[in-house]
Amino acid sequence: MQRVLASIPGKTENQKYARAKKTLVVTTKKSMSLEVCKPSADFQFSLVTNCPGNCEYCYLHTTQSFKPYLRTYVNIDEIFSTIESHISKNNNNITTFEAASAGDPLAIEHITGSLAKTIEFFGSLEKGRLRVVTKFDNVDSLLNLKHNGHTRFRISINSKYVIETFEHNTSNFIQRIEAASKISNSGYPIGFIVAPIMVYENWKEEYANLFNLLKENINTSKSNEPITFELIQHRFTSTAKDSILKRFPNTKLDMDESKRNLKWGMYGRFKYIYSKETVKEIKEYITSIIKSNFPDSVIEYFT
Ligand code: SF4
Repeated sequence: MQRVLASIPGKTENQKYARAKKTLVVTTKKSMSLEVCKPSADFQFSLVTNCPGNCEYCYLHTTQSFKPYLRTYVNIDEIFSTIESHISKNNNNITTFEAASAGDPLAIEHITGSLAKTIEFFGSLEKGRLRVVTKFDNVDSLLNLKHNGHTRFRISINSKYVIETFEHNTSNFIQRIEAASKISNSGYPIGFIVAPIMVYENWKEEYANLFNLLKENINTSKSNEPITFELIQHRFTSTAKDSILKRFPNTKLDMDESKRNLKWGMYGRFKYIYSKETVKEIKEYITSIIKSNFPDSVIEYFT
């Protein structure tokens, strides 16, 4: 893999980063140990690592900034065996697996087809459930699969300002809503991840508009399962801030540590979250507008 990075063209780190985002390595997944993935699922596994999107706040800046090229894994049967073995150790309980915590598999599904295979694999499992989150609208090849209601798609959404200012090379809001509607009409359980929730001038008005638009376009799901929401406030680590400022020197991201509280996070780093008062305000406000627009929905967590 070091050879891959060395051979990516570009004189500066930023040029290499831009080219790496367009470089796909076809390889095998070596480690078959699955990490715990709270709060979104019991475990996580990867069909792909990294993503061609270029969101300024992306969590990958912290975890994978030194290897930003995309990897897709071809030893899918081995990955499936590992999943089955984790389910068999869970005392006959339902076990949930997140497929998009190290990258966005939808972004390159038209090349790999691996998510489609994985959805049908989970469709055949009595005790396994798949969870996928995406900012891409590449769903047409997934609409007629035998998913058996065992895959929950969550579309990542945000206010107009956040999507247009920070989420480069991803599907736009309307494309994501259309994708959510298609997925919902195909009987998949659906949900929305609102992340990262940001506080800025007019944030309340913009988030209210977001949920009004969602309600107009997605009022019910064909699945018997409720629509879910996962809420994640904006946070950053010192390492991420350094990478972001190198890659996006004119970023408008608010990363002023003096206005934030410190919280110990995964990957052994402190992260800067909003102050206690702001966290309370975000949580109460977003919860209230979700409940007024989607009274039967479930808010799975706020973090
Ligand atoms: S779409 Fe997701 S994984 Fe891809 S760059 Fe944006 S935040 Fe990162």
